[in-house]
Amino acid sequence: MINEEKKRLGTNRSCIRELFEYGMKKAAEIGRENVFDFSIGNPSVPSPQGVNDTIAALARSAEAQRMHGYTPASGAPDAREAVAQDLNERFACGARARDLFFTCGAAPALCAVLGALSVEGAETVILAPFFPEYTVFAAGAGMKSVIVPANTADFQLHAEEVAPYLTPHTQAIIVNSPNNPSGVVYSAESLRALAALLEGKSREFGHPIYLISDEPYRELVYDGAEVSFLPLLYRNSIVCYSYSKSLSLPGERLGYVYVPQQAEDGAALLAAVAGAARASGHVCAPSLMQHMIARCAALRPDVEAYDRNRLALYNALTAYGYECVRPQGAFYLLIRSPRGSAREFSERAKRKNLLIVPCGDFGCPDYLRIGTCVSYETVQRSLPVFKELIEEANAR
Ligand code: PLP
Repeated sequence: MINEEKKRLGTNRSCIRELFEYGMKKAAEIGRENVFDFSIGNPSVPSPQGVNDTIAALARSAEAQRMHGYTPASGAPDAREAVAQDLNERFACGARARDLFFTCGAAPALCAVLGALSVEGAETVILAPFFPEYTVFAAGAGMKSVIVPANTADFQLHAEEVAPYLTPHTQAIIVNSPNNPSGVVYSAESLRALAALLEGKSREFGHPIYLISDEPYRELVYDGAEVSFLPLLYRNSIVCYSYSKSLSLPGERLGYVYVPQQAEDGAALLAAVAGAARASGHVCAPSLMQHMIARCAALRPDVEAYDRNRLALYNALTAYGYECVRPQGAFYLLIRSPRGSAREFSERAKRKNLLIVPCGDFGCPDYLRIGTCVSYETVQRSLPVFKELIEEANAR
């Protein structure tokens, strides 16, 4: 017999994957340049040269075989050391190598943390709009997802709107800033208010509510936006980080969990993270990538190309009459469907070979996500299609 729920998950692809795979097929038929594929968050900026040079040098070195070998489950000691040092240089957070657990990206990091916190009846609070896989990860960990609706006035986090969703079963809340899909960076003020709320509720319920900070877009910010480092605001924060976006390495699968030493039951929590990872068959994160990061932890992305796309799309679409959320981070632009449902609008766009994701699964059914991680030429060439689409919608 086959597990029906797993079959459902494997058969019904996410709406992002569905559009992305459609785009690949269409590109093979009519040429890549004729498909405006804004569906998936695949970085369009090349990895920093230092990353590629280091990978090549490691693969050619006399130590190549060691670079391909197993590392300890939690990660290579020098890689953990390098990341802890980099975190301390940036945030003065007192990170130690032993507070880190390397994973195959942010997705398994989130699964391991949710697994570590999954007790009978556990709930995790998710703020809309959200990365749709959160609900899949929570269910996989045996947790109930509790969704806080989006505040579409500003897409910011409002602690007072979160409060009613916290119950004695709340084990965790996932915060994603810069946010996928809105591109919004939560203000320090709003995060401080959330920290105060969580402290109060943790006291009231008699157990800590952990704040899971999912931050694959930490370094992708514009207009001088500041991304708060959550462990400095709330002691029970757990960081899930990824190099997928910041170093443009999504296929190489590297990220980590950071449990700050001041977190309540921190050592036990990290052991449970390792246990949850182990239970899912985790052996070690990709070894070559760990050895690369031991040497490249201080490298940062060049966000200029994303910024150019962001402004070109935001300015043009706003001028055409679209209601757009101005992104300060990540590489997405959220627009409200000008008329009819977002799903319908996405279908209309698809007929013109423009692929944008309806955000029902992100908890924002009236909106669509445009991935701005494409070439500038694609942005420029797609603009007349966006214009045509809104003109047609307005004429209906
Ligand atoms: N979290 C968010 C908000 C994301 O957007 C993504 C990927 O797009 C992930 C987690 C998963 O990233 P990774 O490739 O590191 O598993």
